[in-house]
Amino acid sequence: MASHITVVGGGPAGIATTLALIDKGFVVTLIERSDYHDTRVGEHLLPGALPYLEQLGLRTTVQNGEHRPCQGVRSAWGDSALYDNAYIFNSYGNGLNLSRPSFDKRLAEQAKQRGATVLIGTSVRSFTQNKDGWLLKLSGDQNNLTLQTHFIIEATGRKAAVARALKQERIAYDKLVGIVGFLPPLSSNTSVDDSILLEACEDGWWYSAQLFDGTMVAAYMTDADLLSKSSDKPLDFWRKQVEPTTHIKARLEEFELATQVQVKPAQSQRLAKIVGEGWLAVGDAAISFDPLSSGGITKGLSGGLRAAEAIFSHFNGEADALSLYETEIKQAFEDYLSTRANYYRMEARWPASPFWQRRHQPLPSEIPVMLDPMSVVFAPKTVQPKQVGLFLQDKMLEIDSDLITQLARQSKPAHQLVSQFKTESEHQHDDQEIIIAVQLLLQEGLFMNEGAK
Ligand SMILES: Cc1cc2nc3c(=O)[nH]c(=O)nc-3n(C[C@H](O)[C@H](O)[C@H](O)COP(=O)(O)OP(=O)(O)OC[C@H]3O[C@@H](n4cnc5c(N)ncnc54)[C@H](O)[C@@H]3O)c2cc1C
Repeated sequence: MASHITVVGGGPAGIATTLALIDKGFVVTLIERSDYHDTRVGEHLLPGALPYLEQLGLRTTVQNGEHRPCQGVRSAWGDSALYDNAYIFNSYGNGLNLSRPSFDKRLAEQAKQRGATVLIGTSVRSFTQNKDGWLLKLSGDQNNLTLQTHFIIEATGRKAAVARALKQERIAYDKLVGIVGFLPPLSSNTSVDDSILLEACEDGWWYSAQLFDGTMVAAYMTDADLLSKSSDKPLDFWRKQVEPTTHIKARLEEFELATQVQVKPAQSQRLAKIVGEGWLAVGDAAISFDPLSSGGITKGLSGGLRAAEAIFSHFNGEADALSLYETEIKQAFEDYLSTRANYYRMEARWPASPFWQRRHQPLPSEIPVMLDPMSVVFAPKTVQPKQVGLFLQDKMLEIDSDLITQLARQSKPAHQLVSQFKTESEHQHDDQEIIIAVQLLLQEGLFMNEGAK
């Protein structure tokens, strides 16, 4: 009998996983909370997504005239002048500005046509592990229905609803949010050039993209604390941030003023564990990228194909298939962090701005080790684990702050602190990560050297 897989989340990643699993002979139920009438952000499809759509048999779903061809990206980044990155040189041709959620809905229809059971307007109320996998209690349109399944795919996007229900930890690497407006054109003749427009500014950056129906999406990206520090409501904040721009302001003149905006989380983030017993995470639920990459949808499609391979190998008895998948996804996230750092470093016009300062600090892997392994380290009683946690998070170090602080309450040589932490931590760490954390805590004065007592 074919194994039954439940995919929770019907975005690009969940649907790609569903289709690829069906191709491999699994029986799949796809559970989607919405009815695809909600507002969705993330519209630009990179040309590089086309081979994945092809592989998934989805190429025709984007050729139905609902999406706007996009010729490239124009950006004022590092300089006030615009730089053109035209897709004319791309071997896959143009990108597309997708009408979402229509794109996601069409993908879900494909999943249904190819044999998946698609439950719309449904989510999972409870997860109980048993000898055959999981017993799921559903809510929403399928209220009170139960579902027995062998394996769960977590594909609920950035909020990682399934992982949170399973008490899995999410690690955020910044506080980025997008304040997004959808602006109707002033007249039916309004048309701007078919490029994505990016413009950096003092406390963040803007992007805008025109959709097939003429609507302009204009999103201001900044950190959540910079937004909440302002006394303005998000709409007023968004409007004020248009003023100092050059290119965005000029582009939006052809469109109605935004009358409402939505604030969307956009932080770079990953799950501490990407696979577990009887489950695996894919797409944004596993790792989420800064929208600067324009690559979230593409990552979801390619990730779905890769996840299906891993599950196929797992069900065929390959003992390390899931852990191999996890290692690859974590490596992809590390590579992404380096690329992201390089992009943000290209913009140096506002050295005093906290938004840019946060993004210009060295990555943990770039910091030289200077910690003397024999130096005796301790955490003063006045320093709380929460302070340590916030500091380490700011430095993009995913170290259990309760454990490191508790271990350092008693003075000990740095090498002993590092090896004890490594042994007792629930997560895998390499020595360099822990050493850098201790070194930075000492530099910040949160931890101290014995001689300094
Ligand atoms: C401001 C902004 C701009 C962006 N711009 C771009 C861009 O231009 N190009 C690009 O490629 N990416 C962009 N992204 C990222 C892109 O939107 C995501 O990376 C992509 O949608 C991830 O796909 P996914 O399937 O993993 O998750 P999602 O698209 O988030 O899909 C998750 C699905 O799960 C469903 N769901 C959620 N909770 C539950 C639950 N409890 N039960 C059942 N179902 C549930 C949701 O309704 C949804 O259908 C942007 C993101 C932001 C925030």
